[in-house]
Amino acid sequence: MCTLATEGIQYGCGHYVSQRSTHKDDCGSKYCIWSNRHAPNCPHCPQCSRFLGPDSKEVIKAKVPEYCDTCDYWWKKNNTYRRQQPQQ
Ligand SMILES: [Zn+2]
Ligand SMILES: [Zn+2]
Ligand SMILES: [Zn+2]
Repeated sequence: MCTLATEGIQYGCGHYVSQRSTHKDDCGSKYCIWSNRHAPNCPHCPQCSRFLGPDSKEVIKAKVPEYCDTCDYWWKKNNTYRRQQPQQ
């Protein structure tokens, strides 16, 4: 399973979100779709690994106080939900 070194942003919620990959650690397996040794017309492909491993390296290029998209979404959704509750 190949892994990537990435650069990304650390959000206020604590999540790291990768922006781009700077390096790939190739596992060298022909049964991994990310590997350089994987054939374009690979006959094994339904069985091939199509997942990348956890990032081998995460370089934080910037820190921002905002929440990441996922957390922001949930925060807004929950807040709207609370506002819609009938007042006692
Ligand atoms: Zn691989
Ligand atoms: Zn394959
Ligand atoms: Zn988050």
